[in-house]
Amino acid sequence: REHRTTALITGANKGIGRATAELLAAAGATVLIGARDRRRGEEAAAAIRADGGDAHAVTLDVTDPTTATTAAAWVEQRFGRLDVLVNNAGVTGSGRVAPLDAVDQVPSTVDLGMVRSVFETNVFGVIAVTNALLPLLRRSPAARVVNVSSAAGSLSLNADPNGPLAALLPSAAYSPSKAALNALTVQYANELREDGILVNAADPGYVDTDINDHTGFLTPAQGAAVVLRLATLAADGPTGGFFGADGPVPW
Ligand code: NDP
Repeated sequence: REHRTTALITGANKGIGRATAELLAAAGATVLIGARDRRRGEEAAAAIRADGGDAHAVTLDVTDPTTATTAAAWVEQRFGRLDVLVNNAGVTGSGRVAPLDAVDQVPSTVDLGMVRSVFETNVFGVIAVTNALLPLLRRSPAARVVNVSSAAGSLSLNADPNGPLAALLPSAAYSPSKAALNALTVQYANELREDGILVNAADPGYVDTDINDHTGFLTPAQGAAVVLRLATLAADGPTGGFFGADGPVPW
C-alpha cells in the first residue's frame, strides 16, 4: 500500500507540538508523538486516533540521546523512513516566557546552570534528535525539518530599542537559545540542500500554552499553522529561512 507521510514531532503531548500533530494527522500523515513521559504521549496519541488520525507515541527526551537512538531504531523497523521531523520541544528556564517572570533571566545575575539546561533542551537536544533521525530522513523523497523557534530568538528584533520586542524583559537563556537554534537551522539547511531536505525555523507567535501560563492570545492550532506549512512545503519551497504566520521573520 502507498506510504503515508510519516512525521515525528518532539514535545507533542501538549501545546503547539500537539496541535501540530493534530493538523498533520488531519492532513493524512502518520504522526509519531514524541514525549518524554510515556503516559502523556500515549494519551495524546489515543486522542488523535479517536478523531480518526493515525498516531503512535514514541518515548523521546531530547536531552537523553539514548531515547533518540531507541526512537530512531523503532521508526526504522516500523516505517523504514521518516518524512517530517518537527523539533518542537522547548523550555524557557523560567517556567515562563518573558516578559512575565524574567527576573531570573537578567544576564548579569543569571544562573549559569539554568542557561546550560535551556541550551541542553532547545539547542543540543535538536542536534541529538536531528542527527539520530537524519539517516531515516535521507530515505524520504521529500524530507522536511521544522525547528520551532521564537521571535525572542531574533537578534535584530532584540537589538531594536523601538521594535516589537522592546517591552520584553531580559531573556539571557531563552532568547540566546532560540538565536542558536536559528543559526543551526541555517547550518543544517546548507548541508542538506543538495539532498532536497528543506530545513526551516518557525515562529509560532504568542500562543496560549503552559509555557507562558496561558497568557498567549493565539490558540495552539493558530500557532501550529506555520509549522504545518513548513512541514508540508513543496519541493521548490524555501530552506534555511525563518517564518511566522505573516511571512519571513528577521534573523
Ligand atoms: P508547552 O510547555 O505547552 O510544551 C512544551 C513541550 O516540550 C511539552 O510537550 C514538553 O513536555 C516538551 N519538552 C520539554 N522538555 C523536553 C525534553 N527534554 N524532551 C522532550 N520533550 C520536552 O509549550 P509550547 O507548546 O508553547 O512550546 C512549544 C515550542 O514553541 C517551544 O519550543 C517554545 O519555545 C516554542 N514557542 C512557544 C511560544 C508560545 O507563545 N507558546 C512562542 C514562541 C515559541 P512535558 O509535557 O513533558 O513537559
